[in-house]
Amino acid sequence: MADRKQVLEGLREELIERFDRYQAHKEQKGGPLDKDTEDQSTELANDEVIEALQQEAEDELRQVLHALKRIEAGEGDACEHCGEPIGEGRLQALPYTTICLDCAERQ
Ligand SMILES: [Zn+2]
Repeated sequence: MADRKQVLEGLREELIERFDRYQAHKEQKGGPLDKDTEDQSTELANDEVIEALQQEAEDELRQVLHALKRIEAGEGDACEHCGEPIGEGRLQALPYTTICLDCAERQ
């Protein structure tokens, strides 16, 4: 499954880039709060969206790194819970998964 590793490495780069972009967006903030209330609440809503997106990117990145580690250990195709092989179709649909469909459904 060399392809899956490549997919995950690409995904890792993409997620790091995304995470950095959200971070940069957050760091640009901090100007004077001289706008009217409506602007401030819009701004606040945007910040919450960015925060949620950044959190999502971080969670996904953690999952990708975890899957890569298992591939490098030669366990990439085995379910982390039951040790059974994870289906090929599932790995293609979710390259960063580390559990089989049965275990995912049981969770
Ligand atoms: Zn399983």
